[in-house]
Amino acid sequence: MADPKGFLTTGREVAQTRPAGERVKDWNEVYVPGSLLPIISKQAGRCMDCGIPFCHNGCPLGNLIPEWNDYAYREDWAAASERLHATNNFPEFTGRLCPAPCESACVLGINQPAVTIKNVEVSIIDKAWGNGDVTPQPPERLSGKTVAVIGSGPAGLAAAQQLTRAGHTVAVYERADRIGGLLRYGIPEFKMEKVHINRRIEQMRAEGTKFRTEVEIGRDIDAAKLRRRYDAVVIAAGATVSRDLPVPGRELNGVHFAMEYLPLANKVQEGDLTVSPITAEGKHVVVIGGGDTGADCVGTAHRQGAASVTQLEIMPKPGEDRNANQPWPTFPMLYKVTSAHEEGGERVYSVSTTHFEGDEDGNVQFLHLVEVEFKDGKLEQKPGTERKIPAQLVTLAMGFTGTDQQNGLVQQFGLELDARGNIARDGQYATNVDGVFVAGDAGRGQSLIVWAIAEGRSAARGVDRFLTGTSELPAPVKPTDRALTV
Ligand SMILES: Cc1cc2nc3c(=O)[nH]c(=O)nc-3n(C[C@H](O)[C@H](O)[C@H](O)COP(=O)(O)OP(=O)(O)OC[C@H]3O[C@@H](n4cnc5c(N)ncnc54)[C@H](O)[C@@H]3O)c2cc1C
Ligand code: SF4
Repeated sequence: MADPKGFLTTGREVAQTRPAGERVKDWNEVYVPGSLLPIISKQAGRCMDCGIPFCHNGCPLGNLIPEWNDYAYREDWAAASERLHATNNFPEFTGRLCPAPCESACVLGINQPAVTIKNVEVSIIDKAWGNGDVTPQPPERLSGKTVAVIGSGPAGLAAAQQLTRAGHTVAVYERADRIGGLLRYGIPEFKMEKVHINRRIEQMRAEGTKFRTEVEIGRDIDAAKLRRRYDAVVIAAGATVSRDLPVPGRELNGVHFAMEYLPLANKVQEGDLTVSPITAEGKHVVVIGGGDTGADCVGTAHRQGAASVTQLEIMPKPGEDRNANQPWPTFPMLYKVTSAHEEGGERVYSVSTTHFEGDEDGNVQFLHLVEVEFKDGKLEQKPGTERKIPAQLVTLAMGFTGTDQQNGLVQQFGLELDARGNIARDGQYATNVDGVFVAGDAGRGQSLIVWAIAEGRSAARGVDRFLTGTSELPAPVKPTDRALTV
């Protein structure tokens, strides 16, 4: 146990963010660089090393949290990094972006603020990179087997790294021009600077993983042909079909899916564009959807110089404390103030968009909404509450409905889908087609980075067993194994 009295003597302290007015002028991460390190060992010392660490189960990766908290408390960063990497290929991604269901399951959280697990995680990995402790781990011998991974998001990268290290020759195919999936094109720079992806890719290249960008399987290479060329295939193609809002005026200029808007802002940061073709500059912006994708639109609009930003949510405002039906250690739905919300804008709950109004040139100008309430379990409009708000840019961030690969690789492989439109798989992440596996959002539906990494690792074990009859890769996490999480 790190510090037997740590939880009694030390209060919870989290990473400091830069002043909102300062950080909206740039795209760098919102945190004060170096602010965590002076406090993090004491924070790790708050861990009680419980007999039954519920945080393990809250984390889809089963991260060995009390073990690395202990090393972080003792400032043995190399040992902490080794323990962290035992279960997580990319802690710099999760340490920045994970909603930390582990902290909701922390035993200390029953009657005190939880241990800052996510901050400890990111400190360990940043220190490890800084100290040169993250090095390539190429396999000792090659198996002679080949694997194609389709998609380079966190699921594909985790599967590829595990399989390469197991000795298989792995090629990652990505239809975009850069590697990273939604980490690259979707998640804004201010949440995670892309340097973190780039140095992992370098590590993976040095281990032997091959990357092929701007190749879409199902279009540029026939899927069945790919299967014949490789001994096994992992599909990690994401779930990128955005949920639409088919109301009158949807076709007006200036109404876009969030995933049309956000990647263009990423492209500006990559240096491919000087200005985004869809910019919030000087406009009244309305973001429809109260989740994380919506918050990313809010933060992006602030940085582009929006005149105003309003985020709409159809559901009522969540509470600040757990509901009775979401007890510890489950992951509760709580009111969250993200860094984007700290920066400004207004959030409006319990409203539904009825239609958009445009000008004579077909550009959106107003959004009409009505208040809604639950009656007998059904959402109903409240008469007399209709109003309109200015809206010159509208982004739709209402979730995703599944894979966009129905006419491509799903058809060409002959894959079965499940009832929710995701690619169906068994407990080993195998699809109905021999030698074809699926991991991440493509099989699970739009979810979290931590789940994508967990599934990529698990699918890798399934592939390894398929290719060699056995596997020393870590045991799979099944989609239902760790149920405390979202
Ligand atoms: C805007 C936004 C913000 C988010 N923020 C967070 C967050 O803060 N924290 C969090 O935990 N989660 C977040 N998520 C969710 C998270 O990003 C995803 O759950 C995660 O990236 C899924 O990983 P994946 O590898 O399964 O798929 P993806 O990351 O979607 O990667 C799939 C890749 O496959 C490629 N591809 C698809 N089809 C083909 C093909 N036929 N051939 C070749 N390549 C193909 C795609 O181009 C893409 O690069 C966010 C999602 C969005 C949209
Ligand atoms: S990956 Fe997420 S759930 Fe797991 S320890 Fe890190 S922050 Fe917690």
